[in-house]
Amino acid sequence: MARDDVAAALRFDGGSPLFNLLATKGARGRGPVERLVDDDCTRAFLNRAFGIVAGELADDLESVRSQLIAIRESVEAIISYQIFMVEADRDRAFAGVRMLNEFMGSRGSQRRLIVDSNQRIIVEVVSSPLEAKISEVISEVSDILSDSEKRSRVKVCASEGCKAPFMDRSPTNNRVWCSMAICGNRAKAKRYYHSLR
Ligand SMILES: [Zn+2]
Repeated sequence: MARDDVAAALRFDGGSPLFNLLATKGARGRGPVERLVDDDCTRAFLNRAFGIVAGELADDLESVRSQLIAIRESVEAIISYQIFMVEADRDRAFAGVRMLNEFMGSRGSQRRLIVDSNQRIIVEVVSSPLEAKISEVISEVSDILSDSEKRSRVKVCASEGCKAPFMDRSPTNNRVWCSMAICGNRAKAKRYYHSLR
C-alpha cells in the first residue's frame, strides 16, 4: 500500500468503539486525514467497529457520518485537554462536552418495561443501535477521565506520521505504537533498512 492509502484506510484495531472511532482520523503527524469520507466508509465503520448493519439505522448515512465525526472531534478534544494537558484545546473540549450532553439529552432515552429471560419485569432503555454505541463511546470517555489507571494508558502513537491517541492494553503499560501491525512494523522496517546502510 502506498503511504497515502495507509493514512486514508479505516482501521479497526483500537480495541473498543471509542478508540476505533478516534482512528477514523489518521496521520495526525502530517496533518489530519479524514478516513470517514463517504457512505461506503460509514457503512464499513458501523459494521466492523460498532457491529451495526446499515439496515438497522433510521437515519441516512450522510447524517450518521457527520454525527460520528462531530462526536469524534468532541471526544478527541476532551482527551487532548484533560489527559494530554493541551491547554489550547480547552475551548474545543468544553464545546465538546456541551455537544455530547446535547446529543444524549435530545435523544431523551425512552424507558419501557419488559420481561427478561428470567421472567422478571425490568426497565429497559430503548435506543437505536447507533445511539446505544454512541452512549458506550461517551461512557468509556467518562470512565477514562475519572480513573487515573486508565488515564495513564491513553497515549499518543510514537510514529511521527501517525500520532493517533490509543489505549495501551498491555500488562506492562509500555506500548509506544497505536498498532503493532501497522505503525510498529513500519518503525521496525525503517530501523532494519537503516541498519543495512
Ligand atoms: Zn500509530
